[in-house]
Amino acid sequence: MKLCEKTQELVSGYIDQELTQQERQLVRVHIESCDDCRSIYQDLLAIKQSLGNITYPECEEAKVDKILNEPTSKLMSVVGWIMLIVGYVGFLVWQLFTFYTQEGVPMWLKVGVFLIEAGFLLLLGSVLRQRLIANKTDRYNKVKL
Ligand SMILES: [Zn+2]
Repeated sequence: MKLCEKTQELVSGYIDQELTQQERQLVRVHIESCDDCRSIYQDLLAIKQSLGNITYPECEEAKVDKILNEPTSKLMSVVGWIMLIVGYVGFLVWQLFTFYTQEGVPMWLKVGVFLIEAGFLLLLGSVLRQRLIANKTDRYNKVKL
């Protein structure tokens, strides 16, 4: 009985590996022979392990990743891209029949606006391309896991 009290007092430290060699020996030998103390040890071990899993620190990057990969965000992002591209292409077509073909607009202004829009399109394409590559890498990582 005395040994049981001593073991139950030490068992938490035993799991956390905070005991001296002698105390560890005492707990180990006792839980092998005492059913009550072994079950206390196993319960405590399970609790500590599950707590450890819950409080495992989640880094910011993983959180952002989780939000970005959440289906609703993904759908919103895809819809956003489609709206942006369709809207922008529509705007360009509209400009083609108004701004670019309008008389009285100086050539340098047309060229300037064209350059700005071509630059914007290139940036858009580059971001879109990076996203597609990132998505592919994601899928690859998931397969690997
Ligand atoms: Zn015992």
